[in-house]
Amino acid sequence: MSNADHQDGWTRVRGRLRAEVGDDVYSSWFARMDLEAIEDGAVRLSVPTRFLKSWIQSHYAERVLACWQAEDTKVGRIELIVRSAVLRTTVAPTRKPEVAAGGNDGGNRFNSNNNGRPISVGDPGVHEALGGSPLDARLSFDSFVVGRSNTLAHAAAKQVAAARRTDPVMFNPLYIHAGVGLGKTHLLQAITWAGNAAGERKVLYLTAEKFMYGFVSSLRTQTALAFKEALRGIGVLVIDDLQFLQGKSTQAEFCHTLNALIDAGRQVVIASDRPPSDLESLDDRVRSRLAGGLVVEMGSLGEELRFEILKVRVMAARAYHPTFDVPLPVLAYIAKTVTHNGRDLEGALNRLLAHNKLTGHAVTLEMAEREVRDLIRPQEPKRVKIEDIQRVVARQYNVSRSDLLSSRRTANVVRPRQVAMYLAKTLTLRSLPEIGRRFGGRDHTTVLHAVRKIEGLVGNDMALAEEIEILKRQLQE
Ligand code: ADP
Ligand code: MG
Repeated sequence: MSNADHQDGWTRVRGRLRAEVGDDVYSSWFARMDLEAIEDGAVRLSVPTRFLKSWIQSHYAERVLACWQAEDTKVGRIELIVRSAVLRTTVAPTRKPEVAAGGNDGGNRFNSNNNGRPISVGDPGVHEALGGSPLDARLSFDSFVVGRSNTLAHAAAKQVAAARRTDPVMFNPLYIHAGVGLGKTHLLQAITWAGNAAGERKVLYLTAEKFMYGFVSSLRTQTALAFKEALRGIGVLVIDDLQFLQGKSTQAEFCHTLNALIDAGRQVVIASDRPPSDLESLDDRVRSRLAGGLVVEMGSLGEELRFEILKVRVMAARAYHPTFDVPLPVLAYIAKTVTHNGRDLEGALNRLLAHNKLTGHAVTLEMAEREVRDLIRPQEPKRVKIEDIQRVVARQYNVSRSDLLSSRRTANVVRPRQVAMYLAKTLTLRSLPEIGRRFGGRDHTTVLHAVRKIEGLVGNDMALAEEIEILKRQLQE
């Protein structure tokens, strides 16, 4: 066959590949693959970087071979080589190509260095090329307030930031999840600042979007090498808002990066609004890798913590606005009423500051009430499950859950059962018949009776009222 025939064959193979893997994957991985030669049943293909080569070898070697064999049955194997300027001009003719026998060159994915000059992440050009996300100088450990809901996450973050290059990696990845405005970004940026200030290990902070953009675009613009080299220089990779990672090929790239970094003993830190098990679009292997490190949840900000955060924020604001003074009762009022999340707390203080600056009026409780009114939201009811209510009530009153569901009518079971039904009515959106059904198939009038009974009692019986408060708190935490 002539060279032109080969090229025609190659065009058809590419078409086949594209049809099989889809446009997205095709353009990520195969767009820059060239046919070099066909000799003795071996097809030699080249790609511009070792990273691409390694990726294609480990993920698509058989596919590529099958596409060739569908075109030309005489093809027995595929050889994948890295083409570079050097390889082309001087080495190529004599050099034996590296054979893609479907294997992979595991550990060396992030360690190869064609030009011998390490690229530093600190280099702003590279940092930009990687899409390193901008950092907010205010989000440091100093301004992060530790409370019950974030103690563990904070301790783990501190540990990561302080670890030295030679220290064994204790948990990898560190995976922090929490709802909106509960301090994930703050903690991740604190790690980044502190880690980079210590100078021991380079810390790169990327939002998931930047990760996708930096990675995908660098592959497409021939800078996969630079990207890989920069990753090589990274001690800690921090990825924020992982839930935004979208698309099959991006996720494959993410998985590859994650594995390569972890296998090379680099630290990975991830934040997301949900636990790994709820990242529905990720495949099982990635999910289990994510769950294999330390997974920490940060709970909602309690009133005390909100109060402390506000105090820290006022102190910080005073550095720029020395006359800004917020009486403690005002902070306590905001902490109590603006419950939603850290962003609303910040918003509330900004209103007070703006008002104070623009009108010159001192900050008072009246002013605060007026200014933050629209930030006061009814507490978002946490979704409480009936099973949880039954479990917690049974434990509190030292009866079993089946006692609660049974038809027994002894006093030591009747009262806890009524309390549990009452809680089910007040803490969930379930209807009376539904609640009855969940309590051993009782009639809705029985439930109504229980609810009224307890409502009547809590008005007079302080001890019972307190018990119920405690139960509610346990359930809503
Ligand atoms: P997330 O990334 O979880 O949505 P952020 O980290 O952006 O939340 O936090 C929202 C706001 O609340 C920020 O202004 C942040 O500084 C503040 N915040 C949240 N938790 C804390 C905390 N523990 N200490 C100090 N500030 C906090
Ligand atoms: Mg965030």
